[in-house]
Amino acid sequence: MEQRELLSMTPEELRAFLVELGEPGYRADQIFPQMHKGISPDEMTNLPLALRKKLDEVAIWNLPAVCKKLVSAIDGTVKYLFALSDGNCVESVVMQYEHGNTICISSQVGCRMGCKFCASTIGGKVRDLSAGELLGQVIAAGKDTGERISNIVLMGIGEPLDNYAQVLRFLRLVNHPLGLNIGYRHISLSTCGLVDGIEKLQKEDLPITLSISLHAPDDETRSAIMPVNKRWGVDALLSACRAYFRATGRRISFEYTLISGKNDSPKDAEKLAAVLNSHLRDRKESMPIHVNLIPVNEVAETGFHTSDRAAVRKFAAILEAKGIRATVRRTLGADINASCGQLRRAAAGSAGAE
Ligand code: SAH
Repeated sequence: MEQRELLSMTPEELRAFLVELGEPGYRADQIFPQMHKGISPDEMTNLPLALRKKLDEVAIWNLPAVCKKLVSAIDGTVKYLFALSDGNCVESVVMQYEHGNTICISSQVGCRMGCKFCASTIGGKVRDLSAGELLGQVIAAGKDTGERISNIVLMGIGEPLDNYAQVLRFLRLVNHPLGLNIGYRHISLSTCGLVDGIEKLQKEDLPITLSISLHAPDDETRSAIMPVNKRWGVDALLSACRAYFRATGRRISFEYTLISGKNDSPKDAEKLAAVLNSHLRDRKESMPIHVNLIPVNEVAETGFHTSDRAAVRKFAAILEAKGIRATVRRTLGADINASCGQLRRAAAGSAGAE
């Protein structure tokens, strides 16, 4: 019999599973909330020993194991390299903000999107994470830090909309009142622009925040650094954003990684302002536009360089002058390789893997 993964189950599914095992369904009400607190069924003293043994045989419940943990001396950011049950590793980062602790989690082992500046995609995609593995990162980090995690961003390794079903299942689980109960408004999902996924998400009626990794103002520039743009160009992507905003009323934020000499000129900024304003502003229903500017993190393999400060300031000023709010992303955990995929690669490199 294939072992079932308990952390991926809704309370209803857990109940049905227990009944299948010949156990009373109400045990689900005991198991689900405790498991979401990081207590494994074999530690649940309110369960009969026989049930704990049986679950041990037929089910998997293990949380991702802390394989490496780095704490920034600058700002307290904690970066985890988590080992999954099959030995694959993913990264999660816990950042402390005034409004609470935010965790950035991974959605896949590796990534197949091929963005030229990104470390996570260098070895391609190994596999999708299950909903339980997505949730496990939040539970394990909460347990390890001993702090409540109040916000989640799906901005770690992987493309969440390329693992749609498991990501959606995870969102519903982490929001469940019997579990961590994290509000959808405290969850952000970042995508490189899978338009079919954005259209599907629009219909789910979940008030999460959508974040679009735009990184370029036109198709030529974008296709050169993000292969996904060859499938869905800037026009198609921004049209999907407008439709999403109109249907859900949820604002979308845009990520723009500044790469020296590639996408960071004043002309690029002018073009970006023009394309955003033309797609997302009209007299009827204007979407407030917010662009996060992120000086690119230099990844050895990519050969890209960070824009200098003056170029970043100038870029932001041009956007602001055109009515677009632009913030320069504060770098957290700069001393611990806290950005995307770098720790996993370093670990894989030292083990001679990948
Ligand atoms: N696949 C999703 C989420 C993961 S990446 C997405 O593309 O949005 C999270 C963010 O980090 C994205 O905006 C991504 O483009 C950005 N990113 C990746 N590599 C980076 C680097 N080297 N420097 C700065 N930002 C990077």
